[in-house]
Amino acid sequence: MQVTNQVYQIQGVDVLDIAGQFGLPLYVYDADKIIEKVNELRSSFTGVNLKIKYAAKALTNISILRLMRQQGTELDVVSVNEARMGLLAGFEPQQILFTPSGVAFAEIEEAIELGLQLNVDSLPLLEFIGRQYGRAVPVSIRINPHIAEGGNIKIQTGHADSKFGISILQRPEIKAVTETYGIPVVGLHIHTGSDFKNADAFLRGAEVLFELAADYPDLRFMDFGSGFKVAYKEGDHVTDLADLGSKVSRAFQAFCERYGRELELWFEPGKLLVSECGSLLVQTNVVKENPSRTFVHINSGLNHLIRPMMYDAWHDIVNVSNPTGDEKNYTVVGYICETDTFATDRNLPEVRPGDILAFKNAGAYGYMMASNYNSRPRPAEVLVYEGQPYLIRRRETFDDLIRNQVDVPVLNAVTV
Ligand SMILES: *Cc1c(COP(=O)(O)O)cnc(C)c1O
Repeated sequence: MQVTNQVYQIQGVDVLDIAGQFGLPLYVYDADKIIEKVNELRSSFTGVNLKIKYAAKALTNISILRLMRQQGTELDVVSVNEARMGLLAGFEPQQILFTPSGVAFAEIEEAIELGLQLNVDSLPLLEFIGRQYGRAVPVSIRINPHIAEGGNIKIQTGHADSKFGISILQRPEIKAVTETYGIPVVGLHIHTGSDFKNADAFLRGAEVLFELAADYPDLRFMDFGSGFKVAYKEGDHVTDLADLGSKVSRAFQAFCERYGRELELWFEPGKLLVSECGSLLVQTNVVKENPSRTFVHINSGLNHLIRPMMYDAWHDIVNVSNPTGDEKNYTVVGYICETDTFATDRNLPEVRPGDILAFKNAGAYGYMMASNYNSRPRPAEVLVYEGQPYLIRRRETFDDLIRNQVDVPVLNAVTV
């Protein structure tokens, strides 16, 4: 979104018009921003066979998946249902990397039946694949390199105590299992968490895989996961993609020469591609002046955007309907009946009842982590594509809340 004469627009469309047309609260995504991010990432790498596997869990709407496919990305999924959505969006099974975390083997079997590329995250799973399929299922192996990196502890995945992947210290065991059953290992994978600040963290992970590659002569790809840091507020440190791209490209080229073959280089960005594109638009219900602070109560809550409460995440807030008001200090809170704070002591142009606010950078892990807590329907989603806003998910209704509830007739009798 940019400010043009104080009118907030997405691709020339006034956000207030979008709010009027589709109602609030509402998630709005800017397709141009997604396309820009894909292109920026792609153009940061040179001389390597790069594949971008969009981490679908960040924003799994089928229209977004179609846009990604249009832009030439492939997919990384963490559940078979995410893969099914990818297939609905037109991806080929082989374009989808399935990276489960300790899921039931029955789900693994479904993934194999669908023809997905399997990324193995434990020795018991590797053993299962060997026993069940012998040489028939080529796998990639998710390694835990024991590198502590990233932001909030809840999104660090590569440190020694993390549940993710197979420890690099178990290198001999991995080799033993794959050799016993003749399992073809076609990929090596790391994903060491979110919010990496610099290329060095990626390079240290890469070195671990380069060394491990000596055990596996039939590799097709190496997957360096994600963890790109995006800016949530002005001045935030972000991953320098150009620097990362040139350093990783160089290191990977050198590795391929040593290895004797050119492999594909994969990344699995989620947040990087879809965070900035999205805003959660809400309306102000009540402005309440307490002796110590002024609360802005909005028609949304942690049930729609849990990141502030879950990760202490910062989201810039724009007063869309009163951008030129005098600045005042507010605490912006949701309507959920427990602590539900979006922002504390935030300076905003004067907020009046009815004013429309936008939480920026809400594209990734926004709608996808939304729930029906407090029996609140989830918002609608709109994608602005080629200057046109499209509804890509309807707002939920009361009927959606009771759809799966089962009426037990005996409970209808009043006995006391
Ligand atoms: C969540 C996840 C990603 C995406 O992480 P971002 O921080 O959103 O880029 C990539 N790969 C795997 C395996 C993941 O679980």
